[in-house]
Amino acid sequence: MPILQPIPERLLLGPGPSNAHPSVLEAMSRPLLGHLDPDFIALLDRVKQGLREVFGTANAMTLPISATGSAGMEAALVNLLEPGDPILVGVNGVFGGRMAEVARRAGARVTTVEATWGTPLDANAMAEAIARVRPRVVSFVHAETSTGVCQPVDEISRAARDADAMVVLDCVTSLSGRPVELDAWGIDGAYSGTQKCLSCPPGLSPVSFSERAIEAVKARKTPVQSWYLDLSLLAGYYEGEKRVYHHTAPITATYGLAAGLDRVLEEGLPKRYSRHTEAAERLLAGVEPLGFEPLVEASYRLPMLNALRLPERVRQLGEGPVRARLLEEFGIEVGAGLGPLAGEIWRVGLMGENARPAVVDRLLEALRKVLA
Ligand code: PLP
Repeated sequence: MPILQPIPERLLLGPGPSNAHPSVLEAMSRPLLGHLDPDFIALLDRVKQGLREVFGTANAMTLPISATGSAGMEAALVNLLEPGDPILVGVNGVFGGRMAEVARRAGARVTTVEATWGTPLDANAMAEAIARVRPRVVSFVHAETSTGVCQPVDEISRAARDADAMVVLDCVTSLSGRPVELDAWGIDGAYSGTQKCLSCPPGLSPVSFSERAIEAVKARKTPVQSWYLDLSLLAGYYEGEKRVYHHTAPITATYGLAAGLDRVLEEGLPKRYSRHTEAAERLLAGVEPLGFEPLVEASYRLPMLNALRLPERVRQLGEGPVRARLLEEFGIEVGAGLGPLAGEIWRVGLMGENARPAVVDRLLEALRKVLA
C-alpha cells in the first residue's frame, strides 16, 4: 500500500493550523531553486520586506526561521539571554508557560507573573515585578491561543524599557489578524508562525529583532546555546551583499509564505483586521442562542481565537463526541480547551482566510444539526 493515502478535506477552525489559501498551495508546487540561487535570494529579500510590513517594523533583522513558532520563541530567548540572566515572563496560558520553560533551559533565572487563564496580565503587577527583578528580558504573549485573550502591550513594554530591559513578544496568533506594531510598541524580539492568520502551512516562524537586540547579541560573553538559531550565524545567510550557507532554507515553504504575504498586503492590513473582528462578531451572535458564552471579557477578546464556554447540551452529549461528529460528519475541526480549561471551553479559530461569513455560517449550521 502506498504511504500517501487520500487526505480528507477539512475546514480547520481550531487553534491552528488554519486552511492555506489555494494560491499558497499553488506557489508551493513551483519548481525548486537552490538556496543560494540569486532568484531565491531575491524572493527571500521580498519576503523579509513583506514581514516588516505586517510586523510594523523597520528592523533589518526580520526573517522567516526555518521551523515552527516554538523555534521562533527559542530563537528570541536563547539569543537575548545568557546563563544566569534574569527574565520576567508573564504567564496566563500555555504559551507564557512555554516561554518560561525555554528560558529556564537556556539557563536564565526565571521569575513569572501569573494571571488567571482567560484574563490578561495585570500591567501594574508586571511593572512591580520589573522594578523588583530588574530583568534583562521581559516576555509575554500578545494573543494567548490557549485562552483567547488579547494582551495590551504598550504599558508593560514601556515599564520594561524604562528599566532598560528588552521586550520579547509572542505574535504567533496575532500576526496579520490584529494590529502588531513592533516599532511603536518598542519590542526587541518578536516571533510568529505561518499557520495561523497568514494562512500558510506550518513550518516557518517569522521573527524580528531590533537594533538594540542585535547589539546585545553582539556583546554576548558566551556563545548562543543553539547553533541553529544563533542570529549572528543566521545573518550570514539572510543579510548582506554576499550570502553564505548556514542551513538549507526551506525553499517551498518560503514560496508559500511569499504568496500568503501577497494576499495579506493586497487586501491591506486594516481591512484584514476588520474582517477578523466582523467574523468573530458573527460567530458570537450565532452561538449565543445555542448556549455558548465567551470566556473572555469583551475588551480583551481575540477575534481569531474564540474561547467559548460550553453549554449544558454539549456537556450532556460529551464535548469530545460532539467535536468528533463535527469532524467526521461535517469535516470541521474545532479545538478543545487546554489545562484548567479542558472540558470547559472550545477554541474556535477564525484565522486568515477562514475569517469570513460563509465559513462562520457553515460551522453554525453544522452545530445546530449536531446539537438538535
Ligand atoms: N505561541 C503561541 C501563542 C501559539 O499559539 C503557538 C502554537 O499554537 C506557539 C507559540 C507555538 O507554535 P508552533 O506550534 O508553531 O511551534
